[in-house]
Amino acid sequence: MESIYNYTLDMLKDYMISLGEKPFRSSQIIEWLYRKKIKSFDEMSNIKKSFIEKLKEDFNLDRLECVTKQESQDGTVKFLFRLNDGNLIETVLMNNEYGYSACVTTQVGCNMGCCFCASGMKKKLRNLETSEIVLQVLTASELANIKITHVVVMGIGEPFDNFDNVINFIKILNEPLGLEIGSRHITVSTCGLVPKIYEYAKFPLQVNLAISLHAPNNEIRDMIMPINKSYKIETLVEAIKDYIDVTNRRVTIEYILLSGINDTVSCANQLCDLLHGLNVYVNLIPYNEVKEKPYKRSTKEDMVKFFDILKKRRINVQLRREQGGDIDAACGQLRSNQMKKEGL
Ligand code: SAH
Repeated sequence: MESIYNYTLDMLKDYMISLGEKPFRSSQIIEWLYRKKIKSFDEMSNIKKSFIEKLKEDFNLDRLECVTKQESQDGTVKFLFRLNDGNLIETVLMNNEYGYSACVTTQVGCNMGCCFCASGMKKKLRNLETSEIVLQVLTASELANIKITHVVVMGIGEPFDNFDNVINFIKILNEPLGLEIGSRHITVSTCGLVPKIYEYAKFPLQVNLAISLHAPNNEIRDMIMPINKSYKIETLVEAIKDYIDVTNRRVTIEYILLSGINDTVSCANQLCDLLHGLNVYVNLIPYNEVKEKPYKRSTKEDMVKFFDILKKRRINVQLRREQGGDIDAACGQLRSNQMKKEGL
């Protein structure tokens, strides 16, 4: 039996039509699922009994099983969920001045192999279904009793390696009678799967794009991000340009500062040259050290020096503040710690 949370409004409409039901019923169902957050189909008081029985035959309303929930002093809440097949995924709620954002996982493990990242230490086992991404938002919001206003697709996995399910996830998030998360409040982050950036640019909703760049040239990027062997930095920048041209939207560039690797004055200047004239916003991110990895966080001084160079050269830049430092905060570490505990 399939999760009903896999279904976008259009898919529900097709389902209704195939059963000879009125398509407008699908909007009512969306409302029951995401506004009233029903736990049983019997709660749908404006739907006739016989149709409820049909829904029960075809779909389940299962939530995700919560394994652990950690709360940080600063309001960050981190969940470890177990999927029906036993796999573990992480979801984080972050407390920002503009509201809460959810950071969701898109794959079990990741195949991109970025050298600094904890998520990629476990290869991808499978893509998440749309429902498993949707349910992270729904379940986390219910368990923490928090209204989520923003979503970032920056958890474990490469979202553009699970493109269709991520697109359906966005459609469901954005549904006006459902969770109603504004498209401008949704950001997808990619390590740079270039063909999918072109495809994403054509997606009609006004969603945001973030690029994990992390290096100003091919030499360094080849060393820390294997995806750069397939799509060189110039090819990636071309795709970013196209995205900006087509959508007229600013792109976020993520840049983790790794001590002695990509945080030098020369790197900062090369980054300015690379991004010159582009409508981008650079997010400098302090590296969350991972025990099994040799990389170190840049010193405060180096981070500030890097930031100042970008600022002076008129690049839009911010130095991201850290959140959830007192819980298993580093990306993918909650999952890997639990897997160790369970002997996986
Ligand atoms: N695969 C996508 C989304 C998931 S990773 C991507 O690469 O964008 C989300 C972001 O966290 C990426 O920018 C990633 O490079 C970064 N990241 C991974 N490990 C990190 C760590 N230990 N500390 C800080 N950022 C990290």
